Amino acid sequence: MDYSCAVAIIGSGPAGLSTAIRLSRERVPTILIADTARCVPSAETLPPDAKRELRDLGISEDCLARIGVPCYGFEAKWGKSTPALHSTLVEPYGHGWHIDARLFRRALLGVGESVGVTVIHGRCVGVEKTARWKVTVRTERGVQRISSDFLVDATGRTASIARMLGARLRPLDSMIALVALLKPETPAKTVAVEAVSDGWWYCNPSPCEGTLTGFVTDADLARTLDAANASVWLTLLFQTTFISQRVRHQRESPVVLVRSCASAFLDPLLGDQWLAVGDAAFAVDPLSSYGIIKALAAGRRAAEAIARYLQGDGSLLSSYSRGGAAELREYMSARTRNYLLERQWAAMPFWLRRQASEGFRIASS
Ligand SMILES: Cc1cc2nc3c(=O)[nH]c(=O)nc-3n(C[C@H](O)[C@H](O)[C@H](O)COP(=O)(O)OP(=O)(O)OC[C@H]3O[C@@H](n4cnc5c(N)ncnc54)[C@H](O)[C@@H]3O)c2cc1C
Repeated sequence: MDYSCAVAIIGSGPAGLSTAIRLSRERVPTILIADTARCVPSAETLPPDAKRELRDLGISEDCLARIGVPCYGFEAKWGKSTPALHSTLVEPYGHGWHIDARLFRRALLGVGESVGVTVIHGRCVGVEKTARWKVTVRTERGVQRISSDFLVDATGRTASIARMLGARLRPLDSMIALVALLKPETPAKTVAVEAVSDGWWYCNPSPCEGTLTGFVTDADLARTLDAANASVWLTLLFQTTFISQRVRHQRESPVVLVRSCASAFLDPLLGDQWLAVGDAAFAVDPLSSYGIIKALAAGRRAAEAIARYLQGDGSLLSSYSRGGAAELREYMSARTRNYLLERQWAAMPFWLRRQASEGFRIASS
């Protein structure tokens, strides 16, 4: 066995890193498996209240200023004929941030290493439980093996480790985002959102690489529209009245990437000496811009529960599981309320599926 630790965490997104940093601070020997080679360039938005979690983790406002640009709110053409601004001026934490996702994860990884997290760069290809966990990692230097008392699945939407252990990923929809980096008209300081008959569009300013523009719809509707075809995607973009204004000089067909953003939950989200955290446990619609803050907060709760469990008290693991179920119910009813604000296309499949609260019924059962 190459390495031994109390907790092995697989996945170095915000959830895995938040869990690792907090466990290390509690002096719990922790190994994080980081598949950094797969981290794709992306622009994401941090809402103002993410600063609280980040400050607690050791990411200062100065650090955010180095990896992002301020976000002063959302402009949404949603349920109204003209866009409405939801300004962060009224927020107690001030403005949010448009961040470069790769630089953000790198900054968190730096904090992790500084507090003593052992980072192994590679991909976990197998887990097995005997008296302890045995984790197999493929790295550039060959296969490494880790033995641990507790295992954390922080692999994001795939929940690949929990699924190897028999847990089931329960999708609540088949939402995808068809995204491309475009040249912005003028550098924007807000996120733009516009509802359309088959879904919605958004523009997320990126600090380094232009404007991340995405069409969010369901996988079957995207197939019918042929929306992954770059010229079709561009035609659909120019049918919008608000989003298209932000990128109106884009002429050439961009590279369109398809990313899953389906809402889904893991059943169960923990088992014998393992748990799932972040998107692996419960993934949300990107409309909320809530994924990162949710992952950071879940990492905090997971670390507290695991540290206590390793001291012989499993009560916080039960609360972790109950808290996850309550958060899912709350999210599903909030999601239904948000989609009910737009009634223009109430008879169209995309809107009908969300307004009928089907997901809420599934999540409650
Ligand atoms: C199109 C889109 C736009 C979004 N925009 C926003 C936004 O603006 N604001 C926001 O807050 N949220 C946004 N989100 C959501 C946000 O990105 C996620 O909720 C958040 O990253 C979840 O963090 P996580 O750590 O759980 O998972 P992830 O960030 O997905 O991290 C999981 C990590 O595990 C790694 N991994 C997977 N399998 C293995 C393995 N076998 N071995 C080793 N490593 C592995 C992956 O490579 C990855 O690095 C968006 C999501 C999508 C799809």
